[in-house]
Amino acid sequence: MMLRLARRALGFAARRKLSQYENAARQIIALETGHRRLSDAALRERADELRRQAQAGDALDRIKIEIFALAREAARRALNEHPVPAQLIGALALHDGYIAEMKTGEGKTLTATLVCALNALSGNGVHVAVPNDYLAARDATWMRPAYDLLGLSVGVITQDMDDDARREAYRRDITYGIASEFGFDYLRDNMKFTAAETVQRGHAFALIDEADATLIDEATMPLALFGPLGDHAGFYQAVDTVIAALQPIHHDIDHRRRVTLTEAGYGEVERGLRQHGLLKASATLHEIASISLLHHVVQALRAHVVLARDRDYVVQDGQITIVDPLTGRPMPGRRYDEGLHQALEAKEGCAIGEETRTLAAISFQTYFRRYAKLAGMTGTAITDAAEYRDVYDLDVIAVPTHRPLIRVDQSVLHATAVDKRAAILREIEDAHARGQPVLIGAPSIEQSEALAMILTDNGWRQRDSEPANGAPSARTFALLNAKHHAREAHIIAGAGAPGAVTIATAMAGRGTDIRLGGEETDAATRAGVIAAGGLLVIGTTHHDHGRLDQQLRGRAGRQGDPGRSIFHTALEDEFLTTASIRTPVPAQSNPVAPSVASRLIRSAQSRHETRSFDRRLGLLRFDAVIQHQYDTLYDMRRDIREGADPFALARRLRHETIDDLIARFAPPDAPWDIAGLDHAIRSILTLAVDLAPHSTQRAIESENLKQTIQAMADRWMEGKVANIGETLFGDILRRLMMALIDQLWSEQLERLEHLKRRIGDRRLPPHRVVAEFQHEAFSLFERTAMDFRHDVTAHAMRVGINTSS
Ligand code: ADP
Ligand code: MG
Repeated sequence: MMLRLARRALGFAARRKLSQYENAARQIIALETGHRRLSDAALRERADELRRQAQAGDALDRIKIEIFALAREAARRALNEHPVPAQLIGALALHDGYIAEMKTGEGKTLTATLVCALNALSGNGVHVAVPNDYLAARDATWMRPAYDLLGLSVGVITQDMDDDARREAYRRDITYGIASEFGFDYLRDNMKFTAAETVQRGHAFALIDEADATLIDEATMPLALFGPLGDHAGFYQAVDTVIAALQPIHHDIDHRRRVTLTEAGYGEVERGLRQHGLLKASATLHEIASISLLHHVVQALRAHVVLARDRDYVVQDGQITIVDPLTGRPMPGRRYDEGLHQALEAKEGCAIGEETRTLAAISFQTYFRRYAKLAGMTGTAITDAAEYRDVYDLDVIAVPTHRPLIRVDQSVLHATAVDKRAAILREIEDAHARGQPVLIGAPSIEQSEALAMILTDNGWRQRDSEPANGAPSARTFALLNAKHHAREAHIIAGAGAPGAVTIATAMAGRGTDIRLGGEETDAATRAGVIAAGGLLVIGTTHHDHGRLDQQLRGRAGRQGDPGRSIFHTALEDEFLTTASIRTPVPAQSNPVAPSVASRLIRSAQSRHETRSFDRRLGLLRFDAVIQHQYDTLYDMRRDIREGADPFALARRLRHETIDDLIARFAPPDAPWDIAGLDHAIRSILTLAVDLAPHSTQRAIESENLKQTIQAMADRWMEGKVANIGETLFGDILRRLMMALIDQLWSEQLERLEHLKRRIGDRRLPPHRVVAEFQHEAFSLFERTAMDFRHDVTAHAMRVGINTSS
């Protein structure tokens, strides 16, 4: 009841917003006649004037109607595309920081230019995050002429750019790039030693295209910067040899794809490790001293039992490349962490990569929350409104399509996989014979290849880069999967050609427009395809998440085109069998009655959705704790870099270090450890203090002793400053502190990762998990902070320069 009321209230608020936006759109359109009369130069002059107003402090809301109208006119002139009311509404919603649901093909790229132009006027830089490098370059190049007319500059960040090029791209008014590059630049900037080396200039406004991919599907994928840690290739190979020899009775795997050794497995592994000299004869894997070895054993086990080649990763040119489970795209440069990547390399006989340590990491959700303002657009958002609300504090608004959607959506549940395959084949052959283009979506590379095999067995031929041949006798198809990544966009763009048959992994080619008739079509070809029913989209199984079904269906019926989408699923499909719901066995009829089928599919999807939402929410809560610690350290690091007095900070840290030592070795209310104190003072402070007279009257003496040591240490430092010179020593101190923060954070991050795993293994009730993590993470952080004070002090006390040079 409450929920329904809440939903209705939400619907009401959205409707009211939409009618405000419609109103504003009318005002924008009303300016059209006047703006058409302006020369290009006059148009530019108006935009410059608005920029001056914005930078003089005028609220962007006061100039939005006019700049939207100018940008609309600029698009008409420069791109020959005139934003329609739906696009104006979308842009207005984005400006208000909504996640705007705008269907595929509605023209989100153009919509973005309006809100980018407006927000760029403030001079703070607008970041547009798109799904891949290809789209970053495409969108920037495509939209640039319109921005040019308004006097706005555009930059692109791509993966292969150096820092100078990046800095230049970030200096532009509007910068396009993939989300992960923005995140990586942020992490790298944080580790620079001078402000001049940084490339970003702030986080004012980010607009995320295909927002669901970034903010939901990839939300938990950490962006991690790695640094080298040494060479341990032989170790990984030895562990791999031991694990490769195991039998199924040696391990168990649960429904969450978590693998553990059985008792027999432990015995077997321990025996193998002893043979390789990795475990002492008297030792076992269970004891605390073996924790790290056990960790690598489990990673090797995961590499062998859980991860499958060509599903989770591909091997190309002797390299392991992770495959994005949702899009089927390889993600070059990403590595599994904590030794899992090395374990896979050992399994596949690849060269073992340098062992690395995570230097810094951030998830998309944490990164994008740094922006003062955030907005997103995607074809499918409403289904995830709760998650955007809870996690990102963003509201969703559905922008009505420009033209009514006339696509027909269907779903058939077959009794067996054999029936399903036959139905899919029939569907493809029938459409092809009538010249109707078909796009088939498979959830993984494996399944897309299995489907290609079925077609090949039935007399079809795979075409590579040759264009689609629509003749019924041609029977060729394109296979678009992770391995053909580079041509993806081009192949997808041609998927609407007459009789074209294209197989793609779930969301491959997102962002590429499929025009009926083909990439470069004429009216007659287009009319032919329309007569054949437009694009037919076939899903080869439902996705765990209903949104992904909608994304795939959305490939058809763009901008009011005719089209049809149909999902063929079988009762034995993984998506149903792993949902832990009751399915009718044996199936009474084939296909399963539609009412039963849709109920089954709905409940399976909601099971999966809840599960993954909970998992993400849990991880995101861990993230928040970690990020808080990161911010504490890196805010301090930034202050140091940007001019905070290094001597004052070093002094504070030194005094705190001395406090630590007194509290530990010479407390007012407990026996003293004079030998320990003496040793600590020598090793940290490099000083020799005569401790003998301080053994009586302890309550006062603790304090006195502290003062004495502080005074000695301060004098020692003053001598150094005088000796080395304030500027040089200040510089050394600054670098020292920054480098120590980097090193300590990397170690802390590793401990936090292990803690995360350990807590996961404790099987606590859900509400206790995060609290427990928070609590223990805090003690770890206190230790890190103490290490920092002691290390800074110890290093600073030892700084010396070679005076002879
Ligand atoms: P989306 O990202 O919403 O799926 P795109 O931005 O790729 O859509 O645009 C889809 C197609 O619509 C492109 O071919 C684009 O040129 C075209 N288009 C978008 N807006 C307009 C417009 N106002 N007038 C004419 N064509 C447009
Ligand atoms: Mg797009």
